[in-house]
Amino acid sequence: MTQAAHPAASMSRIHDAFQAWTTAHGDKVALADAQRSLTYGELDEVVEAVAQRLRDAGVRAGDRVLLVAENSVALGVCILAVSRLDAWSATVNARLSEREIDNFLSHSGARRALYFSAVSPQAGAHGRQRGAVTVDWPGIGDLMLGPLNEQALPEPVEADGAKQVAAMVYTSGTTGAPKAVMLTHANLLFVAANSCRMRRITPDDVIYGVLPLSHVYGLSSLLAAALLGGATLRLVARYQPDALAHALAHDGISVMHGAPAMYAKLLEWSESTGTPLRAPALRVAQSGGAPLTMPLKQAFEKTFGLTLHNGYGMTEASPSICQTRMDAPRADCSVGQVIPGVDVRLNGAETGKDGTGELWVRGPNVMKGYYRAPELTAETITPDGWLRTGDLARIDPDGAVSIVGRSKELIIRSGFNVYPIEVEQVLNAYPGVVQSAVVGREVEGNEEVVAFIEPSQDASIDLGALQAWLRDNLSPYKIPSEIVVLDHLPSAATGKVLKKELQLQAAQRRA
Ligand code: ATP
Ligand code: MG
Repeated sequence: MTQAAHPAASMSRIHDAFQAWTTAHGDKVALADAQRSLTYGELDEVVEAVAQRLRDAGVRAGDRVLLVAENSVALGVCILAVSRLDAWSATVNARLSEREIDNFLSHSGARRALYFSAVSPQAGAHGRQRGAVTVDWPGIGDLMLGPLNEQALPEPVEADGAKQVAAMVYTSGTTGAPKAVMLTHANLLFVAANSCRMRRITPDDVIYGVLPLSHVYGLSSLLAAALLGGATLRLVARYQPDALAHALAHDGISVMHGAPAMYAKLLEWSESTGTPLRAPALRVAQSGGAPLTMPLKQAFEKTFGLTLHNGYGMTEASPSICQTRMDAPRADCSVGQVIPGVDVRLNGAETGKDGTGELWVRGPNVMKGYYRAPELTAETITPDGWLRTGDLARIDPDGAVSIVGRSKELIIRSGFNVYPIEVEQVLNAYPGVVQSAVVGREVEGNEEVVAFIEPSQDASIDLGALQAWLRDNLSPYKIPSEIVVLDHLPSAATGKVLKKELQLQAAQRRA
């Protein structure tokens, strides 16, 4: 497929993304949150001033800067200012625990840490714990600055700025401890330019930015893509269905990216409060980061009269791998074709008669590697550049990819494969179930299926009737041995369910 050259092709680093707009659209709002907004012209000046202050605070090219934050204008500015110094930003969500923040601080070898106390009380608590002091920064207000780490050594700086690492991004930790992924400027700009082009982002767009910038989906497909397109990005620190409904109805939101759970909770909120949903300016709604299910896709499309697009990716691929096309909306939950410029193939022993195999990816979106983990990097990227995703997939003759599940989450029950996504699809179709998660549990050399469900606020689920529904819709070996009802499934700020926690819970319930 031929594509017109995009301005990103001539840019080398993420802070270049908005340069085209600083004069042409200097008075248009680039970033906004509940406290402040910055126009494209102001953004340029503020990023430069903050970069200067960071340099004065001892940050050098090749240093890591830990940003303990929640979504805000200040966070967007700091990511770009760190980039301007050729340092690496490592953004982590302030809602993580003390222990997790300490792990990130020591693992990253950060020269400095910034705590976004004005946006997040948790960030303030983390900062005070580590001797940070409050400093007033140009254009972005108060942030806490942690002590200088004299021992921190800068990483070598690439002569070609595009190959320099822009950000160290931690994976979601769904299957184990989060891994630190090194993403270059070229990685992030490639994906941002693609997202901008495929979703036709222009200066007329107002994008709802609730996916955390600490996660790669927020960093490249929200922040970098919005700036590249000259759009306005409305940064939102925490997901609240009522706030999202209000913004869609009144604030001219034209583009929305979210995890499936964010859309599911929006629809549930509307139903349980009897509040109708409206989104007069919305033209793109995209789900990604976790499996989309048919009941949700259909309910969303019926409510808004708009396609719910799907995109698939992973931190190690910056994150975009596949996206559904605007001009060929899909009726199913396929994640669409591979994005232009990237190759995929199916591989591995799991390649079965139904054409399912492990998806491998190669292209400009693939990470430089895991930080300080050469063995893990070598296990994950083959010598000829294929990234093993760990996801099982099928590819239709027209190139549309369907994600069947993660190989790590595949449950093998009495020799039969059970894909959690298939069982979750059926559970989610049952009235009153907002979302579900299915995990395996070891029992005497075999595995059984355990389901967790989150009911809507006003629903009481009759487990007997639900079992009957499952028997009508699934083969016997796929039916959960236990169904656990939880008020809320444990989830990350990205809206992704923390399956690792549920696996533990499932095991403990039997112990
Ligand atoms: P960890 O690697 O730490 O266990 P994680 O894999 O959840 O966590 P991310 O990089 O945030 O961390 O998520 C990528 C994974 O999310 C993919 O490998 C895939 O399993 C899943 N995923 C992402 N988008 C989709 C989608 N549209 N449909 C189905 N699964 C998806
Ligand atoms: Mg992963």
